[in-house]
Amino acid sequence: MPTRSPSRTRAAVARSLPDLAAALAGRGDVALVPTMGALHDGHRALLRAARAAAPTVVMSLFVNPAQFGPGEDFARYPRDEGADVAIAEDEGADVVFAPDVATMYPPGFATTVDPGPLGDQLEGQARPGHFRGVATVVTRLFGLVRPQSAFFGDKDYQQLIIVRSAARDLALGVEVAGVPTVRDADGLALSSRNRYLSPAEREQATALPAALMTAGELYAAGERDGSRLTAAARARLPFEPDYLELRRRADLGAYDPADPAILLVAARIGTTRLIDNIPVEDA
Ligand code: AMP
Repeated sequence: MPTRSPSRTRAAVARSLPDLAAALAGRGDVALVPTMGALHDGHRALLRAARAAAPTVVMSLFVNPAQFGPGEDFARYPRDEGADVAIAEDEGADVVFAPDVATMYPPGFATTVDPGPLGDQLEGQARPGHFRGVATVVTRLFGLVRPQSAFFGDKDYQQLIIVRSAARDLALGVEVAGVPTVRDADGLALSSRNRYLSPAEREQATALPAALMTAGELYAAGERDGSRLTAAARARLPFEPDYLELRRRADLGAYDPADPAILLVAARIGTTRLIDNIPVEDA
């Protein structure tokens, strides 16, 4: 349980659209933090960044069925609304929007947002339709909450780029900001899914950040050959990744040694699919 600060103010928990409208009435600029709950320190970092950006912070709490494929972990995804609301309050959220599925997808809901070719690459190749589900729910959240800014983790970098593109292409009037990945002491990126890992799997999972760091160090030392960089990272993995790719950082286009780059990895460890990435930089 998070420590509750005595001065913490209560957040309004809105479940319906009228409740949300009432909770937002008369407020100024809003910063939105979309989440699926099971909050950890990564989510706290997003809430803090939002708190610094706008007088009103709204956190959404919705496990979005549209972004899970058949056979994925929608049914067993961890849910603990009481703990999540306490954390949101602890980080100064003013409103927690926690709709049910029928509120987000009422009868007759028919429109989806297609994120374009990037939606079928990297994560999208392993998870067909995932980014359509993400782009659709985030666009609807933007329409309901009307934020001026929204905060997403660099941890899910492809999601960040896709949401930022959707906001720009569809002129949604939201500035989409990325927040650096929060990691455990052993380097593993915090994720709600880490709780699925057995101790042995968790130990194995630390190979992901270690492999990324290896390539990052080579890059910092001047290596710019994409195949050599990815081969060095791959050699550190005791398992076969789903993908391990170097891409252009700005838009996840093809790697170009002249542009800032990012290395992205995904792997299945036991039954748990984990993703991670690091920006590669000059020393
Ligand atoms: P989720 O609840 O998993 O959908 O994540 C909600 C938001 O938190 C997304 O924008 C994620 O990218 C972000 N997030 C998840 N894990 C981390 C982390 N370790 N560091 C920073 N942001 C994160």
